[in-house]
Amino acid sequence: MTGLHHRKQFVVSLNDPFDCETTAYIPEGTCAELRILETTDVHANLLSYDYHADREVHTYGLTRIATLIHRARGERDNVLLFDNGDYLQGTPLSDLTAQPANGWESEHPVITAMNALGYDAAGLGNHEFNFGLPRLLEVISQADFPVTCANALTHLGATPEQDVSLMPPYVLLKRTLVDQSGASHPVTIGVLGLVPPQTAVWDQFHLADRLWLRGMEETARRVIPQMRSAGADLVVVLAHAGIDSSPATAMMENAALPLAQVPGLDAMLAGHSHQVFPNQQFENMSGVDLEAGTLHGTPTVMAGFRGSHLGVIDLSLHFVDGRWRVTSSKSEARPVQPTQADACPACEDTSLSQKLAPAHRATMQLTQQPLGRSEMPLHSYLALVGQSNSVQIVTRAQAAAVRDLLGDRLDPDLPVLSASASFKVGERGGPNYYSDVPAGPIFLRHSADLYPFPNALCVLHTDGAQLRDWLERSATVFNTIRCTPSDQPLRNADVPGHAFDVIDGLTYQIDLSQPARYDAKGNAYTTDGPGRIRALCHRGQPVRDADRFVIATNNYRAFGGGPYKAASPEQILFAGNVPIVDLIADHIRTSPPLSATPAPIWQFAPQPGARVVFDTGPGLRAYGGDIAARSLVDLGDTDAGFARFSMPL
Ligand code: MN
Ligand code: MG
Repeated sequence: MTGLHHRKQFVVSLNDPFDCETTAYIPEGTCAELRILETTDVHANLLSYDYHADREVHTYGLTRIATLIHRARGERDNVLLFDNGDYLQGTPLSDLTAQPANGWESEHPVITAMNALGYDAAGLGNHEFNFGLPRLLEVISQADFPVTCANALTHLGATPEQDVSLMPPYVLLKRTLVDQSGASHPVTIGVLGLVPPQTAVWDQFHLADRLWLRGMEETARRVIPQMRSAGADLVVVLAHAGIDSSPATAMMENAALPLAQVPGLDAMLAGHSHQVFPNQQFENMSGVDLEAGTLHGTPTVMAGFRGSHLGVIDLSLHFVDGRWRVTSSKSEARPVQPTQADACPACEDTSLSQKLAPAHRATMQLTQQPLGRSEMPLHSYLALVGQSNSVQIVTRAQAAAVRDLLGDRLDPDLPVLSASASFKVGERGGPNYYSDVPAGPIFLRHSADLYPFPNALCVLHTDGAQLRDWLERSATVFNTIRCTPSDQPLRNADVPGHAFDVIDGLTYQIDLSQPARYDAKGNAYTTDGPGRIRALCHRGQPVRDADRFVIATNNYRAFGGGPYKAASPEQILFAGNVPIVDLIADHIRTSPPLSATPAPIWQFAPQPGARVVFDTGPGLRAYGGDIAARSLVDLGDTDAGFARFSMPL
C-alpha cells in the first residue's frame, strides 16, 4: 500500500480565502487572541446513550460537547477545533452499526458528526486502526477536514527522509485572525498528528508488514522545523499521548512531557490516557504548571474521554519580528457535567442528534436482537475479588471457538485454556461502568457490554511456567496486604483493572501476603521468593512448569502491553480477524440457557485477620446474596460515587 498523501500538505482555507503573498503588511506589535478547542478519545460516544445498559446518560457524549463548542466559539473571534484521535471505535454505534459487514453503506456516523461540527483538522488514535487500513482510509475519505499523522508509515525508510507516511505528516491551515482592533490578518497554523508507536503491535493482525511507527518525540523534533520553513506561524501538536513522568524513551507511549520540550511547539493537545488536564491529579509532577495549564511551559490540554470534556486553550498572540508569537496562554478542560453539586449538564445539540438519528435507530435495533437466556445475573462488580461468572461467558466462548476454528490442527492431547479480563470495572469509566446483565433474556447489547472492545481471538501454545508468569503479571493489580486488622486498600492504582486476566481451565489462589513480581509496565521487581500464585492446578492436578497447553486470548494480550510481555512468534497457533464479541454472541445463541453458577476460577489465599477495602459500583447493592456470601461490609459511597466495601481475606 502506498501513502495517499505523501508529503502533500493540505492547505485549507475555511475563513475568507486570501492569498498570503499579496496580503497587506501587519504592523509590528499587533495583538490577537486565538482559541484552540480539543475533543479527544470520544470513542464514538456521539449521542448521550449507553447502548449496553439501554439508557440515556447525561454526563458525556459529543452531542453535549457540541453545545460547549458552540458556546466557546461564541465567546471569541478566532477559534479552531481539533480532534486528537480514538473517535472511530468504542460503542455499538461504531463497532456494530457502522460496519459494512452489518450492511452499513452510508457515511460513517462519526464523520457525519465531525463534518457537522466543522473540525479544522484531526489526528489519529491507536483505535482508528482497529478495523484495518482499507476501512480507515475509506472512512477518512469522507471527512471534510484534513487528518494528519506524522509517525505512522506505510514505508519505513532507511532514514526518516525516505519514509512514506499513511496520512499527511502535517497540515498548514491558512486562516484569518481578527486582532484586538477588529482588523483581519493572515496566519498559518501548522498542525502535526502523532500516534503511540505501540499501535502496530496492538493491531498486529491488521498492520503487520503494512504499517510502521517511529517515536513521537523524534518525529516532532524532525517535522516541526519543516513546518516552520514551510510557513507555519504557529505549531499545534495533536499528540495521542498521556502524561507519564517516567524517564523518556524512544518509543514512549504516553510521551506528552518529552513532547512538550520539543522546540518550536506553541500548543499541545494530549489524550489517549483518558485523563483530564489541567487537573489536580498532576499537581506535584515535575514540569507541570496547573495554574497556566502548561507542560514544560507549553500550553497543553487533555479533554478526558467519551465526550466528557471540551479542551480549551487560549493563546495571546503578538506580531513580533515579522511573525506571530505566543506571549501568554490559559488552558482549561470544560466538563459536560460541572462539578458543583446542583449544576446541570450541558444539553444536547438537537440538530446534531437529528442528523445522527438513523445511526442511533439502527444501533437500537441491532443491539436489541435476542441471543439467548441466562437464569442468573452476570455482573462485573466483584470481578476483582474472585467472582468470575461475567468473564466466564467470554472465556467459554473463546475456548469453544478454538475447537471450531482449529479442528484437526489442534493436538487432541493438549488441554485448551482460555484467558480474559473483565473490561468494565469502574475506574475512569465511573461508578456505572460495570457489566450488569440481569437474569432473563440476553440481547446483543449484553454481549457488547461484556466485551466492549473489537479485540480479535489469538490462540497460543504455552506451558506451565508461562502460565504461572502470566498470572503473576495479572496479580500486579493488587497491593501487598499485611496481616493487620486495619482496612488496607486492595487495588494497586498504578495498574488498570482491565489488566487482570483470569485463566479459565485452571484453578488457583492469589496470595497477597507476597509482593508483586512486576510493576505496571511489566518490569520485574524480583523473581525470587514464592510469588503470589498458589495451588495452581489443572483438573485438580498441580501444574508443572513443563506441562503444555493451548490458550485462547486476545490480540492485545498476545502482543504484550501493560504488565504483559509479547508471545514469541513460535507460540502463535492462530491469529486472525475473528472479533471476540462475535464469538460471544454465537456462543450464547448456540448454548442452552445459562443456569448453574460455574465454580470460581480463583480466590485469594486466606489471610486470617487481614481485611481489605475496595471500591465498586453501587449497583452491587442489588445483589444482597453476593454481598453476604463474601461477608462484605458496606462502608458507604466515595466522593466519586463508587460504593466502598470492606472484606476479610
Ligand atoms: Mn482512547
Ligand atoms: Mg488511545
